[in-house]
Amino acid sequence: MNKTVLITGTSSGFGASAANYFAEKGWNVIATMRDTSKATGFKNSTNLFITKLDVEDTASIQSAIDAGIERFGKIDVLVNNAGYGLFGIFESASREAIQNQFAVNVFGAMDVTRAILPHFRENKSGVVINVSSGAGAIGFPMASIYSSSKFALEGWSEGLRYELASLGIKVKVIEPGGAPKTGFLNRVGGESTGLQLISDYVPFLEQTGKMFQSMALTSDEDAVEKVVSAIYESATDDNARLRYSPTQDIQPILNARRSSSEEAYQQFTDSIFTQANN
Ligand code: NAP
Repeated sequence: MNKTVLITGTSSGFGASAANYFAEKGWNVIATMRDTSKATGFKNSTNLFITKLDVEDTASIQSAIDAGIERFGKIDVLVNNAGYGLFGIFESASREAIQNQFAVNVFGAMDVTRAILPHFRENKSGVVINVSSGAGAIGFPMASIYSSSKFALEGWSEGLRYELASLGIKVKVIEPGGAPKTGFLNRVGGESTGLQLISDYVPFLEQTGKMFQSMALTSDEDAVEKVVSAIYESATDDNARLRYSPTQDIQPILNARRSSSEEAYQQFTDSIFTQANN
């Protein structure tokens, strides 16, 4: 019997590409999104089932899972991909904007996972794949809120992994770097327009903007393909690995984070992120 994956946030970006990739590999795919009229990026496939799922609406989560099981009989893998980035100065962001960021990136993933776990427990198997970010491993300037949501996602994943291992269920974390070819940056732009401008930060914002522009030049051209391959690998490799960091652009910072002393790491990232401001 073909395996089945349920993916959240498949209206664009990594989610849409992952849905096509799994379907091409012969998987049954439950491609979920909060507005199904956006389901335009799929190749014709009889094993791809599109259904509504808004990660902020628990009733829609349960309906999508139930409909997917009714269609394919079983779900083997969940990909918690839906998410967005609130970028900007922390002090500029309202409490509500920060709560929205956590509602989607953290509580949304938790709610979908909670809803599918009884099914995975019944089957004594399953894989939960959480799409985090390089910003889930390190803090970036102007991304403190996004980073804190992805750090929360990663801390939760790491602890959950032990709980679920005892039941034959795996947890995986994907840490993409920058991927300009998804809808992510457009949404970042939209979210940021709601932030209040505090003039004291303007010199910092100008310098940091330049730093991000130069960082964007190092983004992997094939980031989407690499991320989708890593999602597929994590669904199928059947090993104990937790984190996958498939793009090259963030490797120097991730390596420094994971292999340098705290002081050496901070000196290295200050030289990238803040030196221009001093
Ligand atoms: P994207 O093209 O903007 O896709 C994001 C998806 O999440 C869209 O389908 C969006 O649906 C969906 N979504 C947002 N809020 C939702 C909600 N409440 N319920 C259900 N779906 C919701 O961006 P992407 O780059 O593919 O992002 C996918 C994941 O990768 C995110 O978790 C993001 O944080 C992570 N990531 C992206 C990058 C990057 O540079 N692109 C880097 C690292 C990590 P709508 O169309 O309805 O808004």
